[in-house]
Amino acid sequence: MKHVKNLIVGAGFSGATLANKIATELNEEVVIIDAKNHIGGNCYDYYDHNGICIHQYGTHIFHTNLKNVWDFVSQFTKWNPYMHAVKGLIDGQLVPIPFNLNSIHQVFPKSIADKLETKLIDTFGFNVKVPILKLRGTGDKDLEFLADYIYEKIFLHYTLKQWGMKPEDLDPAVTGRVPVYISRDDRYFQDKYQGIPLQGYTKVIEKMLNHPNIKVHLDTKFETIKNDITYDRLFYTGPIDEFFDYELGELPYRSLKFDFVEFDKPYFQSGACINYPNNYDFTRIGEYKYFLDDKSDKTVVSFEYPQSFKRWENERYYPIVKDENGELYAKYLEKAKALPNVYFLGRLGDYKYYDMDKAINRALELFETLKG
Ligand code: FAD
Ligand code: UDP
Repeated sequence: MKHVKNLIVGAGFSGATLANKIATELNEEVVIIDAKNHIGGNCYDYYDHNGICIHQYGTHIFHTNLKNVWDFVSQFTKWNPYMHAVKGLIDGQLVPIPFNLNSIHQVFPKSIADKLETKLIDTFGFNVKVPILKLRGTGDKDLEFLADYIYEKIFLHYTLKQWGMKPEDLDPAVTGRVPVYISRDDRYFQDKYQGIPLQGYTKVIEKMLNHPNIKVHLDTKFETIKNDITYDRLFYTGPIDEFFDYELGELPYRSLKFDFVEFDKPYFQSGACINYPNNYDFTRIGEYKYFLDDKSDKTVVSFEYPQSFKRWENERYYPIVKDENGELYAKYLEKAKALPNVYFLGRLGDYKYYDMDKAINRALELFETLKG
């Protein structure tokens, strides 16, 4: 029976952040395992034969308002100061998403657009973000017309594809991630810090894990080693329900199928991400060379097809944020609390819709509690 001081399950951003902090600041041994044949979890990227940096699990853009997180990650990379902008195909036109004042002027005749703009600013103010579910409840007939339009053209059919549910059947925070923005700012995120690591995400995580105290074992599932290893502390960034062998039931997830296609032309579309709320079965197309301005005569895109998650068939990508799922997670958390020196974290361990910065911040906060 082997004994390790710190065993970390999962070499994504959550596990790698914690491994780095324990190794460097506590000067303790860390063994980090991952079931996959690569580090990086869902942020894994690689350079293909055209020299294009491909994000294997869909487009990843780093954005945060958390200075501590930005400073932490910046120890391991320089950044391409990329600002993400998304357009959606609405009635044959590519319009800015989040839907904003520019979008309004693009899809409506000037007289109507001017009136809607004035009403929005009078009601909510300028430079304000309004979730679609809130915009639907103003009671003003012009704003309700606008809200119905945006709901139908941007949110309803995309959300049905992405989640198999209507927006109102999900936690409002999900569609609230992409609010209507009373602004002329066409960027997808307004965070203070945004960018793409200059050599990609995998390199960042490789550097985090490059420490004499850290040993990485790939192709290693926790279940296959758990009876042969003991530890002082276990940090588990895998699915919490799987850890407990689903004894309270399965936590639902949404999955995706990515169809990667290479085209023999320099560019396929006008930006890194185009959404298709109403057409086709995919939700969006990502074009990878935009992120680091990779130079090639070819280009690679991915078509993103949402799927329900099924164990053994596909991967868990999104926790489904709904009250009843939160209640099941809370029951697992109760069981987790009874285990001494076992900690759950990460998108799967916490069952939370974390962006990269929130996953990293969670790991940094957990580390602070270890220091005592
Ligand atoms: P993960 O990356 O999922 O890592 C968990 C690791 O644990 C995996 O490598 C897995 O193989 C391993 N593991 C699980 N169970 C076991 C086990 N039993 N034994 C061994 N290993 C195990 N965030 C952003 O900030 N910006 C974006 O633009 C963005 N885009 C996204 C697009 C998509 C399509 C998706 C799905 C997510 C996106 N995210 C984005 C979120 C981002 O991917 C997550 O925040 C981040 O990956 C969370 O890291 P993690 O380490 O918690 O989890
Ligand atoms: N959404 C939508 N239409 C869009 C973009 C987003 O309806 O054009 C909704 C949809 O429910 C989606 C959610 O807003 O799941 C969050 O979108 P985001 O782009 O943040 O999703 P992610 O990048 O995490 O897949």
